[in-house]
Amino acid sequence: HGQATTGTARSRRIYGLETEYGLTSRPRGQRSVGPEEIARQMFRGMIAWGRSSNVFLGNGSRIYLDVGSHPEYATAECDDLYDLVAHDAVGNRLVEDLRRLATDQLAQDGTPVEIFLFKNNVDSAGNSYGCHENYLVDRSVDINRYYRLILPFLVSRQLIAGAGHLSRTRLYERPDRGGDGPAVFQLSQRADQMWDTVSSATTRSRPMINTRDEPHGDPELYRRLHVIVGDSSMSQTTTLLKVGATELVLRLAEARIELPDLTLDNPNLAIRQISRDLTGRTPVELANGRTTTGLEIQSAYLQAVLDHQDRLGPMQPGLLRALELWQRTLTAIGAGDLDTLSRDIDWAIKHRLISRYADRHGLAPDSPRLAQLDLAYHDIADGRGLFRLLDAHGEVSRVVDDAAIERALTTPPPTRARLRGAFIDAARAAGVDYLADWMHLRINRGNQTRALTLRDPFQHTDERVDAMIAALDEPLW
Ligand code: ATP
Ligand code: MG
Ligand code: MG
Repeated sequence: HGQATTGTARSRRIYGLETEYGLTSRPRGQRSVGPEEIARQMFRGMIAWGRSSNVFLGNGSRIYLDVGSHPEYATAECDDLYDLVAHDAVGNRLVEDLRRLATDQLAQDGTPVEIFLFKNNVDSAGNSYGCHENYLVDRSVDINRYYRLILPFLVSRQLIAGAGHLSRTRLYERPDRGGDGPAVFQLSQRADQMWDTVSSATTRSRPMINTRDEPHGDPELYRRLHVIVGDSSMSQTTTLLKVGATELVLRLAEARIELPDLTLDNPNLAIRQISRDLTGRTPVELANGRTTTGLEIQSAYLQAVLDHQDRLGPMQPGLLRALELWQRTLTAIGAGDLDTLSRDIDWAIKHRLISRYADRHGLAPDSPRLAQLDLAYHDIADGRGLFRLLDAHGEVSRVVDDAAIERALTTPPPTRARLRGAFIDAARAAGVDYLADWMHLRINRGNQTRALTLRDPFQHTDERVDAMIAALDEPLW
């Protein structure tokens, strides 16, 4: 059969954000405590709660500790950008609570330490950890259509969603070998860590998109597009824009809207070049021999969205706000007017903070105090983290208020997560041995088990789950 030339954009999509947090500490007494011990202390309460350091919570999310390294929070499946921003913020609260518990416990045990958790992507040794974005896409659409269209967008997306990074890594130098170049303010923390575009390996080659085919849903209908090139975001508006603009580009692919050919000659080089230029005007080479810039690439996608908005389906308020912010951000970069972004876009917020401090104290870019400031921006501790302080003083924009975050702490979004959350809450209240993950629910009682598979991530009511919850109170079934 022939190739369709028109298509329909998804009007609903599932999103999830996974965030790995960086962990360091400073002894307050004689003895220091290693990161493994600190992580163990942090997850002690969690293990008592869920009998594992990998637990699904009543709000539908997953909190997880990788062996000895970074705590990770994965939001529940959200189908709305405002929900996603709120659920992402819950992750900060939860790991911050764990941090405080561990601090108190270690002090009681006679090994007082100050513990730091960073929502960023690179530690002082240049090791990288991720913020993964998940987007549900249709199995029926050729996955290469998505990849082809989205790659130049992702390479240049740091202009609108980078976290900013004062870095000494030279072009193509491996960050974990320690940079010794001149300090340069880059747009992205992840750019220098990327060595491939699309691949199933995650550690060795570090691709921008991970192709491991694990849909967490009906494999006949769905795929899960796993974007791993993005920086973690402190700013709620940056999170909204990062995911919202990507959503719009996925819709362009689904509606089969043709763009000028933006295939990059060398994406690994282009992402590094774009990261090193806050004006968006550094030339990058296209595969067709022409030259373009990061700003031009972003503008081409934005323009396609504006030109074809009628073909992109209904837009929730969060998506409309992301579109408006996308326009405003590119206009400001085009005009070199970064101050207008200093409430909304992480790298611009951080850039202003660092340059003001450097001016006031007469510091050169390679001053360790500025590197310290860069890191402190990502510290999630209330009253200590620099972004947190700006937020407390109302100096950065919000997407959701504290009440919405509070709700998201216990209330799953209206997706499959609602079934999972209701099941977990009920099973815990009944004191029953249970298991839950993205697709599965199970009860164990003696040698009897009862299990369900939830294949549709959009479905938030299910009689089978109701029956299973009802059965929790029955002695046998
Ligand atoms: P790992 O991090 O261990 O490699 P993983 O990539 O499968 O595994 P998880 O940390 O378990 O990731 O998080 C999965 C994320 O995908 C969550 O944020 C979740 O909300 C989201 N998600 C679940 N189902 C879907 C789906 N069908 N489509 C898109 N996103 C989904
Ligand atoms: Mg994960
Ligand atoms: Mg992942």
